Amino acid sequence: MQSKPNILLLYTGGTIGMEKDLSTGALKAFDFNKLLQNIPELKQLDCIIETNSFEKPIDSSNMNPDKWVQIVSIIEDNYNQFDGFVVLHGSDTMSYSASAVSFMLENLAKPVIFTGSQLPIGDLRTDAKENLITAIQIASLQNNGQPSIQEVCLYFEYKLYRGNRTTKINAEHFNAFTSPNYPALAESGVHLNVNSSSLHASNNKKLVVHKVLEDNVVILKIFPGISQSVLESITAIPNLKGLILETYGSGNAPSEDWFIAVLKKAIDKGLYIINVTQCSGGSVSMGQYETSTQLKKIGIISGKDITTEAAITKLMYLLGQNISPINFKAIFETSLRGEMA
Ligand code: ASP
Repeated sequence: MQSKPNILLLYTGGTIGMEKDLSTGALKAFDFNKLLQNIPELKQLDCIIETNSFEKPIDSSNMNPDKWVQIVSIIEDNYNQFDGFVVLHGSDTMSYSASAVSFMLENLAKPVIFTGSQLPIGDLRTDAKENLITAIQIASLQNNGQPSIQEVCLYFEYKLYRGNRTTKINAEHFNAFTSPNYPALAESGVHLNVNSSSLHASNNKKLVVHKVLEDNVVILKIFPGISQSVLESITAIPNLKGLILETYGSGNAPSEDWFIAVLKKAIDKGLYIINVTQCSGGSVSMGQYETSTQLKKIGIISGKDITTEAAITKLMYLLGQNISPINFKAIFETSLRGEMA
């Protein structure tokens, strides 16, 4: 007889486990055990669930690289004892965390499913139960004794996505996430349909956990009217190592001399600049228009079809890897965890 899958449920915080503070009316995190009491259905699932929790659960607006290290350390410490991991997390920064964790866990061969909810689990109309129960079922899926999902994913409102391909698009709707440039990995309806051809397959190598992230990075979204002094000030931030430049359309930016000159000076001084599109879908293609040809010439790195969330976390991760400047551009432009085409 095959034993039931073992799932570790990690609660980091977020609306899913919040309740109203009666004095202020604001939502704040409550005790994890109360969360479980609210879902007796968990006992009916065909898996063994163990739980772990941040000592102080957080609103995900307070997420940061140290807490990502905490998440991957818990997964690392429990990796051999469990078949899958479900991370309960606030939706606000869930795409950043799922992206960061995907880079930090190299050679992952088990599911790490991020989920949360728009309404607290105690709310009558909550979306938390479906998200949590299906996320656990997905983490339990097995094929010939191996986990079916072997990557970091995000499950929300009936869809399973590759985590580093997602972005939060709605602060109100239950359908809060999308994956603009990569298909859903599974859809939950009457049946749980897995899109097997889009799944990442593990390489059978040993898990390597990366815990060094560089936080001297910044995101700059350009806009018509961006001034020379703004661009100069940002690129001159002391110690800045990397900049995600959110450009227009397929990677276009002003072609004025001062704009290119400021960026070139920063690149020559060793700053890595990544071109990511402001559009929610599609890809950067430098050289397609005159307004991106110069960017390519001065050595700006193409983010291709990466999300901003995956770009900034990939930048933090790669900067923590001591990669030589000669190789950095080629490595950034390579898909490491299925985050870009
Ligand atoms: N502010 C909450 C958080 O991200 C929202 C949520 O959980 O959906 O923690």
